[in-house]
Amino acid sequence: MLNRAAARKVLSFHPQCQRIGLTHLCFADDLLIFTKGSEEAVGTVATILEKFYLVSGLRCNPSKSEIFCAGVNEEVKKTLVNCFGFKEGTLPVMYLGIPLSAGKLKAVDCKALVEKITSRIRGWQPKLLTYARKIQLIVAVLASISQYRMNIIQLPKKVIKEVESMCSKFLWSNMEQNKKAKVAWKHAAFPKEEGGLGFRDLWSWNQACLARHIWVVLANQETLWIAWLKEYWLRNISIWETQIRGSWVWNKILKTRPLLNSSLVCTEAGVEWNGAVMTRFSIKTVWDSLRPRRETVPWASLVWKGPLIPKNSLITWLVIQDRITTLDKVKKWNPDVLDICPLCHSDPETRDHLFFSCSYVRTVWSIVFDPWQISLGWTFQSGVLAAVTRLGDTPKHNT
Ligand SMILES: [Zn+2]
Repeated sequence: MLNRAAARKVLSFHPQCQRIGLTHLCFADDLLIFTKGSEEAVGTVATILEKFYLVSGLRCNPSKSEIFCAGVNEEVKKTLVNCFGFKEGTLPVMYLGIPLSAGKLKAVDCKALVEKITSRIRGWQPKLLTYARKIQLIVAVLASISQYRMNIIQLPKKVIKEVESMCSKFLWSNMEQNKKAKVAWKHAAFPKEEGGLGFRDLWSWNQACLARHIWVVLANQETLWIAWLKEYWLRNISIWETQIRGSWVWNKILKTRPLLNSSLVCTEAGVEWNGAVMTRFSIKTVWDSLRPRRETVPWASLVWKGPLIPKNSLITWLVIQDRITTLDKVKKWNPDVLDICPLCHSDPETRDHLFFSCSYVRTVWSIVFDPWQISLGWTFQSGVLAAVTRLGDTPKHNT
């Protein structure tokens, strides 16, 4: 009915909808109507809604409906609001968990998201969970934020930091404020092959999600959004060349261009990513080239792969990070503690001493490594760690 009224020129289009003939958007039982900010246009919409009620029996619920006005003075706004009896809405408005706004998304606009994650994490009762289970749950939380919200908008850096900080507290201190993390989040947010705990770096994931919009434009998909962009913001200019203007969300999408323009190109075969045609956009592929990287570590499969006890894997990981609570560390915050190794009673108990240079421990390692005839080196990395990575080899002789 709205479209027919617009075609008959009874209903005036919203100034940024006319070229694509857009009068409304409809999702499930939600309806967004766009029209010119004049009393006549808004009155026409009210009449159409009333006619729709008469033929269908469905009527807008004024307590659940809002009117948003822009580019009109206060007097006109009052008249428009009165046309429907709806209350006047203010942006950003939350829709399906996403704040709708052309302006800058602030941390305060994402308060509901942060609160939702906080209550979810607290509901898991961290005190009752093992580290391994907590790691699994954090991976799930980060994936759930990434899958939906980040596909559409760029979350403010402050919000991402807050989410990461909450996950870190959940993992290391059971959400208690006064306990410090054993390992900083920036070290844990790497794939396990690169020495991390396998947590996703949210910021670069978000950038990869926004890059998808560039791909959608290049792939020239037949969507309403692309049609609208072409008419109003691109106007025959390539997405690589168009100036940064328009809404905050669009600007954030355009700002990902420097990250992509050497990898994402249009060819006769289609849109290519690093020389391979990308018929469907893969956020994971793009993220993998945008994310911070570290060198792979030789011990990752030893610590994480195979039929291992998850708790032992994490302890081994902490040992490698030098984050286990040895007596030398305890002495730093409590000088009265005697930090002498309780096994050999000769040297201070440090990580390297406890796992390598302690005479008692060296005897144990010698027995363990004897079947492989592996000789220990003199440092933690080149000694025990390198030797242990060879335990999968066939023993030289049996004892
Ligand atoms: Zn010792």
